[in-house]
Amino acid sequence: MERERLVETMRGILGPEGVISEREELRTYECDGLMNYRVIPDLVVLPETAEQVQRVVRVCYEEGIPFVARGSGTGLSGGALPVESGILIVTSRMRRILEVDIPNQRVVVEPGVINLWITEAVSGEGYYYAPDPASQVVCSIGGNVAENSGGVHCLKYGFTTNHVTGAEVVLPDGSVVHLGGGKAPDAPGYDLLGAFVGSEGTLGIATRITVRVCRKPEAVKTLLAAFEDTEAAGGAVSGIIGAGIVPAAVEMMDRLTIEAVEVAVHPNYPDAGAILIVELDGPEAEVESQFEQVIGICKQNRATEVRVAGSDAERALFWKGRKAAFAAMGRISNDYYVQDSVVPRTELSAVLKKISELSGRYGLRVANVFHAGDGNLHPLVLYDNNVPGEAEKAEELAGEIVFACLEHGGSLTGEHGIGEDKKKYMPKMFTAEDLDVMQLLRCAFDPHQICNPGKIFPTPRLCGERPGPFRMHPVQKAGLAELF
Ligand SMILES: Cc1cc2nc3c(=O)[nH]c(=O)nc-3n(C[C@H](O)[C@H](O)[C@H](O)COP(=O)(O)OP(=O)(O)OC[C@H]3O[C@@H](n4cnc5c(N)ncnc54)[C@H](O)[C@@H]3O)c2cc1C
Repeated sequence: MERERLVETMRGILGPEGVISEREELRTYECDGLMNYRVIPDLVVLPETAEQVQRVVRVCYEEGIPFVARGSGTGLSGGALPVESGILIVTSRMRRILEVDIPNQRVVVEPGVINLWITEAVSGEGYYYAPDPASQVVCSIGGNVAENSGGVHCLKYGFTTNHVTGAEVVLPDGSVVHLGGGKAPDAPGYDLLGAFVGSEGTLGIATRITVRVCRKPEAVKTLLAAFEDTEAAGGAVSGIIGAGIVPAAVEMMDRLTIEAVEVAVHPNYPDAGAILIVELDGPEAEVESQFEQVIGICKQNRATEVRVAGSDAERALFWKGRKAAFAAMGRISNDYYVQDSVVPRTELSAVLKKISELSGRYGLRVANVFHAGDGNLHPLVLYDNNVPGEAEKAEELAGEIVFACLEHGGSLTGEHGIGEDKKKYMPKMFTAEDLDVMQLLRCAFDPHQICNPGKIFPTPRLCGERPGPFRMHPVQKAGLAELF
């Protein structure tokens, strides 16, 4: 379909204010939170209803136009990066909380609803929504579902996938399916909802999402412990978990991060090589006794100072620096690249040592701020884009960190997804057969590869796009799967 007619068709579906077609305005959507990759989409549409999403997708399907869903655009792996000749479907006008059902501990929302709004909607009833990415004041639930997002409290409460119980999804052919349960938290049959959560917008567009909300704990206690280095802090983390305590959160920041957040938001952290924030929640008596144990373990591991939050305000101050850590890097470096990989907790200290060695070898500073409790690392590689070649060097160093994590039994990504950014590393973790099987799943939803194409997988494979001489996959040979 030629562009003018496409714009008219979309205006017919969404009204003039629901279609952005001017190049200068389209530029706003050229990247997500990862600014290394930029593509200006051909067209941006802003539906207000599921029916409008369905009608837009149907046009895309009939005309063979690729499309990409976008929530708030805070993703850090280029997942919402547009396709040049495609349509970007932005859900930011789909922001209604449709149902608050406290007796069944569930809330039904549209995909553009901001993460924090769910907690705000139920906090008066003594409930909250547990997955809390540091971006919770801006990121959308649709984006959280697509990325299976985490957050500081996921060590104890689990990731988005543990809190989403149902979704209405517009499939790439424009049909609508309901995945997962209704009022009951579980449903029989294949766990297609489980496959959809974390599929990074490649299987369809969620237009309605049901989440579980949790009762607020009776007590919450938070401490901040300072250490000479990350190794000592890591020892305390192992000690806490080894004692059978599952904190609500265990976050670590190294010296460089502490320096950056002090300049940016003044949380008045101690002068230290590493800081841990440990939060316990649950029944009052349990929290009290375990909290004393945690203080003891920090001291045994050479904590130089332990501060206990005496009020909500002090607790908020402890968290202020952690939540602002990514943004604060701008105070000490022109540019930075956020890496995201995960390692077994027991390998943290070895991997941090390796990161420091790589930092020295490449001559670039690396700041570490991460979810220490679940081994989820977020090394921030600092560089200056004005220095020729430094951006490339930073990317190479970030890649070496990924390889180090894999060597230590970790994974390519902790919570930010593969997207555009890490697809090149997929063969480092998965065999060609693994990747083909994943593609077969994708093909079952999207045989024409129009739904967020080019993401996650390193090269086009299957769906008739396989480069080189075609070889049948063993599962196809066995007649167990079909190549579309
Ligand atoms: C400062 C900062 C801190 C962050 N902290 C964390 C953190 O602690 N933990 C964490 O996990 N992440 C974190 N992130 C990353 C990011 O916020 C999450 O990945 C978030 O889930 C993205 O949501 P979004 O609405 O911005 O999605 P987008 O960036 O708009 O999209 C992300 C992906 O979701 C897909 N998508 C969006 N909406 C839909 C839909 N309705 N249906 C299907 N697919 C859809 C897109 O195609 C894309 O692939 C952080 C980001 C920033 C900038």
